[in-house]
Amino acid sequence: MAQDFCNAEDGQKDQSVGYIFRRKSPWLPNKVMTVILTTTNHSRDIAGLKYVYPVLSRRAGGLSIGINFNTNNACNWRCIYCQVPDLKVGAAPDLDFQLLEDELRFFFDDVLNGDFYRRFQVDEDKRVIKDIAISGNGEPTSLREFDKAVALIGEVAAEVGVFPKSNFVLITNGSLVHRSSVQRGLKKLKEYGGEVWFKVDSATKEGRALINNAGQSCRLSVENLLLSAKLCPTKLQTCLLDYDEQGLSLREKSAFLDLLKGIKAKGCVLRCVMLYTIARPSLQPESERLERMSVEMLQAFADEIRLLGFDVLVSD
Ligand code: SF4
Repeated sequence: MAQDFCNAEDGQKDQSVGYIFRRKSPWLPNKVMTVILTTTNHSRDIAGLKYVYPVLSRRAGGLSIGINFNTNNACNWRCIYCQVPDLKVGAAPDLDFQLLEDELRFFFDDVLNGDFYRRFQVDEDKRVIKDIAISGNGEPTSLREFDKAVALIGEVAAEVGVFPKSNFVLITNGSLVHRSSVQRGLKKLKEYGGEVWFKVDSATKEGRALINNAGQSCRLSVENLLLSAKLCPTKLQTCLLDYDEQGLSLREKSAFLDLLKGIKAKGCVLRCVMLYTIARPSLQPESERLERMSVEMLQAFADEIRLLGFDVLVSD
């Protein structure tokens, strides 16, 4: 999920550090790559690996390890704020499980036993893996055998001691939770103490068509949200943006509040609602028409949601 809450949010001043990445693994060619990793450069291939990428996050206060299944930049939605380059309609390609395992072991070893932190000049108090986030260039749950991939990540991370200390997060648009392999994946995620960050940007048909270009109805999205919350602790993530200087309409606000009232009435428990706005330019044609939502607007809406009894986090 590009433009996600955890990995694309920093928007603060660059803090560039040199990164010399030596490929030592037998399955990778012996060569030295020099790249620059910054807290705002979240390029998925920065570490030279196919599926695993590091993100230094000021907000998280440490290292977030991203896992990208969508190496073909394919998603079943087209959000107008999406930052995936050359975004295509489609699903994640079949995963090379051996390569994912090799990359995880290689990268964990570099961070836990190698000189990763020294090369990045990471402050001593930030030398911690805050989370492993399944969040890539498209919808991760579109991966065939998604459950098997979650299990593999969990097994390797637990074996090297990253879990249970670090968080395990799935960032998803939630549109495929009705699939049995996704549900098995969510159960597995829960086993490793993980949580789902489920995207709902609008609760109206028009809003979802405009912002997400999502074919799925709001009703089906809510059904998937209820399922997700039953299977694994779930947070709602909502990107609010100002399109054509229209702000957040009363209709959008009340539809969203009604959605929350509806799921609460059905006994759905969410860990929290996370409101955020765009932090970096969209790579979609609508980019010029998008502006950040003001902090005041985010905070005011958060207060309305809190009145319904939900915890709300605001990230600007
Ligand atoms: S759901 Fe798909 S289109 Fe929307 S932000 Fe995530 S990757 Fe981009």
